[in-house]
Amino acid sequence: MKEACGVFGVYAPGKGVAQITFDGLYALQHRGQESAGMAVSDGEAITVVKDMGLVTTVFDERTLSCLPGDLAIGHTRYSTTGDSSWRNAQPVYRPVGRSGFALGHNGNLTNTAALADKAGMLPGVVASDSDLVAELLALAYPADPADGLGPLDGLGPLGGLGPSDGADTGTADTGTAVGLSAPVHDRRLEAALKEVLPQVEGAFSFVLLDSTQVMGVRDPNGLRPLCLGRFGSEARPEGWVLASETPALDVVGAHFVRELAPGELVIIDASGVRSERLFPEEQVQPRLCIFEFVYFARPDSRLYGREVHGARRRMGELLAHQAPVDADLVMGVPESGVPAAEGFARASGIPSGQGLVKNRYIGRTFITPGQAARDAGVRRKLNPLRENIAGKRLVVVDDSIVRGTTQRAVARMLREAGATEVHLRISSPPLVWPCFYGIDIPDRDELVAANMSIEEIREFLGVDSLAYLSLENLQAAIDAPGAGFCAACLTGEYPVPPPFEADVPAALSSAHG
Ligand code: SF4
Repeated sequence: MKEACGVFGVYAPGKGVAQITFDGLYALQHRGQESAGMAVSDGEAITVVKDMGLVTTVFDERTLSCLPGDLAIGHTRYSTTGDSSWRNAQPVYRPVGRSGFALGHNGNLTNTAALADKAGMLPGVVASDSDLVAELLALAYPADPADGLGPLDGLGPLGGLGPSDGADTGTADTGTAVGLSAPVHDRRLEAALKEVLPQVEGAFSFVLLDSTQVMGVRDPNGLRPLCLGRFGSEARPEGWVLASETPALDVVGAHFVRELAPGELVIIDASGVRSERLFPEEQVQPRLCIFEFVYFARPDSRLYGREVHGARRRMGELLAHQAPVDADLVMGVPESGVPAAEGFARASGIPSGQGLVKNRYIGRTFITPGQAARDAGVRRKLNPLRENIAGKRLVVVDDSIVRGTTQRAVARMLREAGATEVHLRISSPPLVWPCFYGIDIPDRDELVAANMSIEEIREFLGVDSLAYLSLENLQAAIDAPGAGFCAACLTGEYPVPPPFEADVPAALSSAHG
């Protein structure tokens, strides 16, 4: 299973924003490894650098030193729409207004075709849904600067860049030496967002930048995460950060402030941070992707106020109560199966240990056609520890089963290494529906659980027993009472209607909640 992008934004004059963005993207590398990029503004001009590859491949010291600026956004990409090519690397840039704007997107839109059609775009004109949104924003950008310029009338600040943040007067507090000089506020990008985003459906966490402002916005269901951090103290902020996950704040030395609310637009400039709501209240229903907890997010991430590692450990504990088994050793499939294995061992009293070693230098799993090639791909990634395994009855804990490729190869590998029994425990329910919101969960015909019974899957994988965590136990493990989740790939209940052509029973989808 693949994630779909990490986004980052920073407003921190005088702090070396290119290096900060690099560090933030590096912490978000697990969310996408196909391309990386950043857009940096020095207050006048925007420079965009992006290329195919990992963050460390695209940027080096020399590149970063050529990117002076006070504000920046960054992006790491895994493609779920559009092909994997330079043209689709982000941020995307549009040269409108004073200096243009740049945009980075995490998520996937569900009404791309309708939006392109409505805007009169011919098929093939836009390369991806991010490209489409940038195009729509450029079209909606007020032509007359007077339409978008003005003081911060009637908008309450959430924080400023100094003891006097200047928000009342619409001027920067230059006395703190951290604010850009911004005598007038260019509201054109904000105006374009307010016009375009209410028409956009699906999953989006965007970061945007023009010459003097950084913005972040989440879709009304908050399907993909986005959080706000701060440099300096609450009383004396020295800059602001936006990031897909909290570890990106930690590595750049920013304090976590809060998660952006579903449907919220945050605007950061010399005056501080402002918040706007772009969607009618009835449309705003929190539905964070539940797989952020199961698999996608880093274990040290905090979502809904809960650390992901603890939730994964509790998934394992509840799995041990739900599907106990007699065994000699509990082992997790590295990396994301390991915390749940720790929980399973703790709750069952069965010793835990390492049974597989992962090659740390494999950046991504290669999708190769054919079962033999896929098995070879798994062998390239994982290798058994024979002395730990030989003669033992094993409980193997993994986070999810998509096609079953990895688990089948792992079971064979463990038996060849001498395991006498292999009992597979999965810390999430069966994946039976595709994802339309930016996660690469394929068509139903490729999802093993959509086409086989549990017993058939057990036989196909070659394991002695198989059990999945129930949805109730998954939610209990996350332990965020009242928090809303998307679990459509498990239940078929889509919070946003899937595209028309989707192979999903209409009765199962519910509009906006
Ligand atoms: Fe996440 Fe599944 Fe919902 Fe996609 S369908 S957003 S993977 S919970």
